[in-house]
Amino acid sequence: MEKATEIVSQIKGKKITAVEVLNRYLRTIKEKDGEIRAFLEVFSESAAAQARAVDEKAAAGLPLGRLAGVPVAIKDNMLYKGHKASCASKILENYISPYTATAVQNLIDADAVIIGRTNMDEFAMGSSTENSAFRPTRNPADTSRVPGGSSGGSAAAVAAGMCPLALGSDTGGSVRQPAAFCGTYGLKPTYGSVSRYGLVAFASSLDQIGVFANSIEDTELAFSVISSHDPKDATSVKYPENKIPGGVKGLRIGLPKEYAAGSGAMDAEVARLFGETVQKLKELGAVFAEISLPHTRYALPAYYIAASSEASSNLGRFDGIRYGLSAQGGTLADVYKKTRGQGFGPEVKRRIMLGTYSLSAGYYDAYYLKAQKTRTLIKRDFDEAFGEVDVIFTPTTPSPAFRFGEKVSDPVAMYLSDIFTIPCNLAGLCGLSIPAGKSGKGLPIGAQFLAKPFNEAVMFKLGEELAHAG
Ligand code: GLN
Repeated sequence: MEKATEIVSQIKGKKITAVEVLNRYLRTIKEKDGEIRAFLEVFSESAAAQARAVDEKAAAGLPLGRLAGVPVAIKDNMLYKGHKASCASKILENYISPYTATAVQNLIDADAVIIGRTNMDEFAMGSSTENSAFRPTRNPADTSRVPGGSSGGSAAAVAAGMCPLALGSDTGGSVRQPAAFCGTYGLKPTYGSVSRYGLVAFASSLDQIGVFANSIEDTELAFSVISSHDPKDATSVKYPENKIPGGVKGLRIGLPKEYAAGSGAMDAEVARLFGETVQKLKELGAVFAEISLPHTRYALPAYYIAASSEASSNLGRFDGIRYGLSAQGGTLADVYKKTRGQGFGPEVKRRIMLGTYSLSAGYYDAYYLKAQKTRTLIKRDFDEAFGEVDVIFTPTTPSPAFRFGEKVSDPVAMYLSDIFTIPCNLAGLCGLSIPAGKSGKGLPIGAQFLAKPFNEAVMFKLGEELAHAG
């Protein structure tokens, strides 16, 4: 699989043009996407214009950006001026972005080529991409299985070699879980390090834009490009200077005892491959310690209350008047009801109802407030753990990719696939899923590093040394 870093150096060294690179990826999309269905739309025209502009710059001897000529796909919940952004929902099916998200603008400013928008669970609610209002995406490793979600299209596109990089969003695991299912790297950056301006809000206190790539170097490169302090996002912060670890030797890695094999619904093969990666890290000189995250067991319920509450408020803006779909009705209330009734799919409606209920008078203290308090306890667990260790290591998901339809009728079973990824968002940490081998059936398995806010560098260091150790 070709790396973004290689494309950039070939373009800078004039060995290949951006137009040639783009055409090659467009051919791969043509060959493979009929079956995989990762893209909701390929931006052939605007991408060609961008690629030509990069080549003109190169020909004129002007300096090229850090992602010169690299095709990058964006999840369908990120705005790109003049292009559709539907969140894979009927309610925004024909919505055209009036401006560009900061993360996408950062890619463009670095001379990347935005190749298309990728499929997702509607409004990023889901773990399999089966909640897309348009079509499910297939896992390139086994097309009878889901690619994970909600950023399933971005993960599948990168895993199938249809683009070297893609952006996703991670509210409770939506970058890391599909990365694990498809066998790519998946980064959930620290809350506040990548601007959310122009990312359609699901749960604003948890949402963060992240990266899919086929190598650790590409993950780092893309992160360094999209991460910026943005006054247009009130929660954006200036990335602090942090010490970069010299190497893995001597790093202290925590293994949460609550996530250990046998303590939950962890698949035996996930446990085995995770153990092998632990062994490799030991050989690289890492020192392991058992840590405890006692409130983890409340993470899932706290997340589904908090995230749904925020979603019920954020999605209030889709009323048939201001954005997208507008159903006919005799009264204003009819327009609201019909638009929302027709425009939202079943999972989105479930979340809006859950959230509205949790926020309503009489239930607020019992649900919403309790979820927020639980969140504080979960964060405290991590603060304590990070007093003892530099980084935490866990499997990314309890099992490899499941089959289509397997969990659709049981929302709680679906929610459980995020059991290891959700606490990171609740605590505002950063997380990185790395490929950790394949199951006997050839299904990719992922393992996840979690680090303190603004400590992406320690996870990158671990990822680099592991990748080079083979
Ligand atoms: N699967 C989780 C959910 O359905 C997480 C989604 C996400 O991270 N966007 O809410």
